[in-house]
Amino acid sequence: MTEAGAVPVPPDPERPFGLYVHFPYCSARCHYCAFYFVVGRDETRAAYLDAVRGEIEAAARDPRFAGRRVSTVYFGGGTPSLLAATDVDRLLAAIGRAFPKGEPEEVSLEANPDGLDRERLAGLRAAGVRRLTLGWQSLRAEGLRVLTRTHGPEDDVAALAAARAAGFENVGVDLIFGWPGQSADAWLRELDEAASRGVEHVSAYELTVEEGTRLARRVDAGRFHLADEDERARMFDGTDEVLAKHGIERYEISNFARPGFECRHNLDGWRSGDLLGVGASAASHVTNTRWTNVADVDDYLARRTAGASPARTSEVLPPRTWAAEDLYLGLRTTSGIDVGERLRPLREADRAPLRAALDRARADHLVEGEPRFRLTRRGRLFADTVFDALLS
Ligand code: SF4
Repeated sequence: MTEAGAVPVPPDPERPFGLYVHFPYCSARCHYCAFYFVVGRDETRAAYLDAVRGEIEAAARDPRFAGRRVSTVYFGGGTPSLLAATDVDRLLAAIGRAFPKGEPEEVSLEANPDGLDRERLAGLRAAGVRRLTLGWQSLRAEGLRVLTRTHGPEDDVAALAAARAAGFENVGVDLIFGWPGQSADAWLRELDEAASRGVEHVSAYELTVEEGTRLARRVDAGRFHLADEDERARMFDGTDEVLAKHGIERYEISNFARPGFECRHNLDGWRSGDLLGVGASAASHVTNTRWTNVADVDDYLARRTAGASPARTSEVLPPRTWAAEDLYLGLRTTSGIDVGERLRPLREADRAPLRAALDRARADHLVEGEPRFRLTRRGRLFADTVFDALLS
């Protein structure tokens, strides 16, 4: 739906864009997961990959993307490490044909530790994947059990060794903290152990209870209790220090990297770069236009077969909402956002409430800096308050 007065702003044809491929297939369900995924349904996989390639080809004819360069490719899911190397190869070839203006600078793939071996990873690397994100989630058997993961700590460690043996020099790990029974000290020790293993990137997410998940039902029924709130604040707060000791620095609220190993794909998103998302549930945005594909493999396939758009929702943001969203994204990064520059094109009636929200956040010591604003240490703990004020 387009709000009255909101007009799509044409993109800069010279600015490259990121391309996200959603592969929703998983071998098991994790109870906290709010992403769109399917377990089984293997009989639809070949048709799904054909449809995704078709969507990439269609995007090359879309004036918003035609003739532009793809800067980064990110395979997310679901479990993209279930993809055969030949499938990744064919998808990257389709992207290269559709957008021939140079090779992407970064090709990332999310991988689950179970079932990963050197041979599979070497195949993915030969197909063009250069950056791997291992979904460790925890290095503790108890953590993996309460998170209902299907792998053990030994699989986590073996997956990293296999990645190195396959030649990957850019490996990140995802970790979740705040599960029941976990103390802040235990989390910080676990994090230290993860960093000691020499990874280039760490994403550390607090366990959150997302609506509609099995976890939400268990919490509602009183059968699952998150770690104590004060403990979780200590976990969040101590994370920087532990990782910094290993030369891994924060560059976004939940993301840390050795210098030069920040995820370019995500960084571009936080800097409001354009994104083409293909596959079921994938989200896209070009300047102030946002759209999201249907989150249903069957519906997605039916639409693609009929030559129809897979987009379920589409929206054009008015100037104030667009600026608020850019500020929200930019503040998340440690490099921050030049607020004056972003607010300058707005009418005074749109600019004033955003400036007032930022001034209040500054007075509360939640943001700092000039001309680039960023969240303070305290602001990262209460980031939702800042973002709510901007987006309200
Ligand atoms: S967390 Fe990952 S592996 Fe687990 S169900 Fe969600 S997408 Fe699949």
